[in-house]
Amino acid sequence: MTPHDIFADGFKTDPYWWEAAPPDDEGDAPPPERVDVAVIGSGYTGMSAALELARSGVDVVVLEAQRFGEGASTRSGGMVSGGVNVGKGGDIETLYGRARVDEMLAEARDSYDHLEEIIRRENIECFYARTGRFVGAHTPDAFKAMAAKVDDLNAHADAGATLIPRERQAEHVNTEYYYGGMTVDRAGGVHPSLYHKGLREACRRAGVKLSAHTRVEGIDGSAGDLTVRTSRGPVRAKEVVLGTNGYTGKATPWHRRRVIPIASYIIATEPLGRERVSALFPSGRMIADSKRVLYYFRPSPDGTRVIFGGRASFRSRTALETAPVLYRYMLGIFPQLAGVKITHAWNGNVAFTFDRVPHMGDENGVHYAMGCNGSGVVMMSHLGHRVALKILGKTNRASAFDGLPFETRPFYTGVPWFLPTIGAWYKFRDWMDRRTA
Ligand SMILES: Cc1cc2nc3c(=O)[nH]c(=O)nc-3n(C[C@H](O)[C@H](O)[C@H](O)COP(=O)(O)OP(=O)(O)OC[C@H]3O[C@@H](n4cnc5c(N)ncnc54)[C@H](O)[C@@H]3O)c2cc1C
Repeated sequence: MTPHDIFADGFKTDPYWWEAAPPDDEGDAPPPERVDVAVIGSGYTGMSAALELARSGVDVVVLEAQRFGEGASTRSGGMVSGGVNVGKGGDIETLYGRARVDEMLAEARDSYDHLEEIIRRENIECFYARTGRFVGAHTPDAFKAMAAKVDDLNAHADAGATLIPRERQAEHVNTEYYYGGMTVDRAGGVHPSLYHKGLREACRRAGVKLSAHTRVEGIDGSAGDLTVRTSRGPVRAKEVVLGTNGYTGKATPWHRRRVIPIASYIIATEPLGRERVSALFPSGRMIADSKRVLYYFRPSPDGTRVIFGGRASFRSRTALETAPVLYRYMLGIFPQLAGVKITHAWNGNVAFTFDRVPHMGDENGVHYAMGCNGSGVVMMSHLGHRVALKILGKTNRASAFDGLPFETRPFYTGVPWFLPTIGAWYKFRDWMDRRTA
């Protein structure tokens, strides 16, 4: 099969999710001259913040450079959990101490309840299901590391995690690739774009003002009297919420220096039939793994396709260019899929932070929540909401993610020139781990 043969007729480089719910600019109006709070970015962070503010009677506008939801929020894998990935790959205990890490895990656990509550309260039909997750160990050592982590996850994040030896992994994923893994029951899947559509509709119902195709170019002034300069004119606001995450640009250079945008890529197969797909995912769980450069994959919400994601490149590559790479990764997991075609391939930016934890905070009336490190469906919905509660003065306890030192690095301005080298090094180490396993 040549790389070209993997593409089905009508192949698209848009997210599969957009078939059901593309980003839109419904309700778009020119930005108001004056407002209480201006929210920049219309992903889960911005929409969650705006929704809570508007429900409390605050005059709020969302300013979005593209169509609503066009950033990462309608492009993700739609895999949800509460806390399993907080600090993954970093050493947050040394940085912040055990007590603060426990607070973060507890809050991440509760953030999952918040997602379920929003979906229920706003009646969002988005195929949300608490399917659980299976995290595959890419080496025997990774399996041992998981064994050491399971108790912690259960004690502090109430994860419902269970170690699964290799002999039993086929109950969850029909592959020989992993060396066992763990299941996490407090996890599930959602149709990311339908979830976002539900948030958009909730915002409209709550009276949020919405301005699409409105790029913010800078913010002047100080708390109480800020001017947000946009491509459609200035907006004066008492406070600003920055929800630009992996798309943070030159308008906010301080924040841009603190997040590392890394592209993540996904492909969707043609419909394969429910029986064939459930033979690959017998327990219907979402799948991720322990590699530094991980794979994440799942059945589509209707159970007929495989959705397969990973960091297929650390250079600036298009979804079309990287689709054959992801396809090869997919066959490494499921050789039984040789010959199937793909209908969609897409990518989006994930925002990493130097310490691997999400951050919220505020400076001079500009509030921010960013740095999901690849797990943002739950976390960014939650932090957007927390920022709103903070503005409203409705919290008696600060978020565990609020006010942490938000590090950058010398010579880093927001363009991650080091990624090709670091990415290649991580991939090499994953490859070596498996060779020597
Ligand atoms: C391919 C991929 C797979 C992923 N898979 C998962 C997963 O399975 N599970 C999970 O939990 N998370 C996943 N994530 C992460 C998750 O999607 C994100 O964390 C989350 O959607 C971030 O939401 P957000 O609102 O913070 O940012 P975004 O949704 O990215 O929204 C930011 C918005 O800000 C706008 N913006 C930027 N600059 C400006 C400006 N100057 N003026 C106006 N607007 C501006 C952008 O246009 C964009 O719409 C994935 C991400 C990607 C890309």
